[in-house]
Parts: sequence; structure tokens; C-alpha cells
Amino acid sequence: MKNLELLRADFPILQQKIDDHQLIYFDSAATAQVPMQVMQAMSDYYMHYKSNVDRGLYAFAEKTTLHYEQARTKIAQFIGAQASEIIFTSGATDGINMVARAWAAHHLQPGDEIIISQVEHHSNFLPWQQLAEEKSLILTIIPVDAQGVCDLSIYYAALSQRTKLVAMVHTSNILGTTNDIASIVAAAHQVGAKVLVDAAQSIAHQKIDVVDLGCDFLVFSGHKLYGPTGVGCLFMKKALQPDCYPYKFGGSMVYSAGYDESYWKNAPYCFEAGTPPIAQAIGLGAAIDYLSENIDFNRVAQHEQELVAIMVVGLQNLGFHIVSSMTSGHLVTFYDSQIHAHDIAMFLDSYGIAVRAGNHCVQPYHEKLGLEATVRVSFAFYNSVAEVERFLQVLALL
Ligand code: PMP
Repeated sequence: MKNLELLRADFPILQQKIDDHQLIYFDSAATAQVPMQVMQAMSDYYMHYKSNVDRGLYAFAEKTTLHYEQARTKIAQFIGAQASEIIFTSGATDGINMVARAWAAHHLQPGDEIIISQVEHHSNFLPWQQLAEEKSLILTIIPVDAQGVCDLSIYYAALSQRTKLVAMVHTSNILGTTNDIASIVAAAHQVGAKVLVDAAQSIAHQKIDVVDLGCDFLVFSGHKLYGPTGVGCLFMKKALQPDCYPYKFGGSMVYSAGYDESYWKNAPYCFEAGTPPIAQAIGLGAAIDYLSENIDFNRVAQHEQELVAIMVVGLQNLGFHIVSSMTSGHLVTFYDSQIHAHDIAMFLDSYGIAVRAGNHCVQPYHEKLGLEATVRVSFAFYNSVAEVERFLQVLALL
């Protein structure tokens, strides 16, 4: 793996100044920045072979289909899946909604249960709350324990024959903690429930293998994996594909269309109606190439934990309250009892430091903590100790 400092040079956006201040980008959990190599792959498509997939018979249309399918294969290899188990979506939110409509809406009956955790992003909460209302399902919410992960003893006790789906975040976007998905899956499967993993945060920070996790569905967004916006993936386990039904209909997903009857293609194509995010999928493929060539996830985790450790101590010394894990993960969430999180973020912005403030789309958990908003700093491999030190110096001026 290249020196992390050297890799930073691949991200032109990080080189800029904001009002004479060198930009410090601490918001990669919201969206990670994109290396030149990804932009080049996308501009190559736009400049030299833009065409639709699976349609044109001319040479560069075939090239588009080839690159689009190669991206699917790269993603599959990246998470230990088969290419036919990868469905391109517009992002994690889209993938979760697809599971709700393509699988859950067909199989769950009134009185059936969906289990989620207390710290789900709205994307992995609202689709289930909505489906539960529509179909009179039970939505059970498992609290987090003192370590900030799904409380396994409460989870195990909650599981029963009526549990049909467990939809669980892998790494929390406010706590930075990572759930023991393999154990969660093993217990769910014992009662016949399926498991959906929201890997939106974990995908860029640890090696994911869907076979090791054992999950049935897994989603992530390309833009948090150093790729472009507008593309994501739903892993749908092969064995479950016959039980999933298209819910978006249109071009490309149909094998044969007739006035009386139409027949869908097999997965993944029957779930990709219409023109897919072609340039974005190619860009995501390039992001995966970039990571495979340059990144060792163990080394990245070590680096990010070092940044978290320095940040936590520094914030505590300045009197801030920490909400997230003090020891693990890629982010730190904090607040001050007197100063609103938005004011802290705006103050930091005046020094060229980009952080996120608000409820981070986890409003119910913020309400449970009695907090309206928190500040979140989140790291990627391109952040440095010097940036954390500068951040703490600036914050001391508040
Ligand atoms: N789940 C988690 C844990 C997230 O952090 C996010 C993004 N903030 C999402 C889901 C939704 O991702 P997207 O908006 O890219 O669909």
C-alpha cells in the first residue's frame, strides 16, 4: 500500500483553499471525495463512448455494456459475491426500499415482525415503519448496549417464529460502532428470518465479505466508497432471487413484452428497469480498482482509529461531550451543552473546516438522548494527524 499522504495527491478537491484557509474535509461519512482515476474513467465514457447499455449494436455501445458489466463483476469480487447477485441502485436508500418492495411486501403478513436497531439511519428505519403501517406488521427496535452496538441479549430474546426480517446497520453513522453481523445473522436464520445489512458506512472502512457475514441482502452507496453520486448496490443472495419480484417496470428488464403477457429477465436485470446509472457504475468500478491497488483496509482502520483517539482526547480536554465510540470507528460525534451544533459547524467553516451538524438522519436516537443536534467529524484514509491537530487548535478559539 502507498503512503497515505501520497494518496492524498489523487484527490484534487482536497488541495483547495477556502477563504485563505487550507480545506480540512472531515465529512467523508456524508460523502467521500473522489480520486482523479474515478473522474478520468467517467470522463473517458462521456468523451469517447457515451451510449446506452444492452441496446446499441455499434462498437462503442458494446464497449459501454462491457464496462458496465465489468463494474458489476468488480463490485461482486470486492464483497465476495457473484456478479448476478449485484443489482445497481441509486444508493443505499434505494437498495433498502427495493428489499422492502421486491421481497418484504410479498412475504410478510399482518402480525409478522421486522427487527431493527435503535440507531438506524432514517433510510433503514422509515421504509420499515412505512411497510409496518401498510401491512400491520410489528416493528421491534433493539436498543444499543454500553458499547454502542445492538444489544445482543435483548436481540436474541426478541427473535421468534414471527420474526421475518432483521434490518441492521453494520457500522453506525453516529456512533461509529460496528455490529457483530455474523452472530446477528446466525440467530436470525435459526428462526427463519432474513437479514438485510446496511453497509453504507462500513463499506469504505473494512473488508466486507457477504459469505462471511452470511447476510441475505446488503446495501451500500458508491459515493461513500470514493465513487460518484447516483449509484449504489444491492447484494441479493442468489437463493433468494426467485422469491423477489420486480417493482419497477420498463425498458431493459423484460425478456419479452406482449399485450397479453410479459416475461421478466432473470436477476439482476429484472431489477434494473430503465437506463441505469452507467457513467456512475463505471466510476464506481474505477473506485474499486483504485482501492484494490492502493488500500489495505487494516492499515486504514489503524490510521482512522489513531485520528479518532487524538480527536476524542482533544475534544474532552476542551470540555465537549462525546456521543460516539471513544475507541473505534472512523468518526467522532460530540456536542457542547451551551453552544448549538450548527454554530460550532459554522465557526469551523469560517476556518475552512467541513464537518456535519444536525441529527445525521438518526433523529429518534437524538431525541432519546435529549439532543436536538450534534457535530460529527468523520475521517477517511486521506485525513491526517496534522489536520486533527489544526481542528483542535481552531476549536479552542471558539
Ligand atoms: N445508512 C447509513 C448508515 C448512512 O450513513 C447513510 C448515508 N448517510 C445511508 C444509509 C443512506 O445512504 P444514501 O443517502 O447514499 O442512500
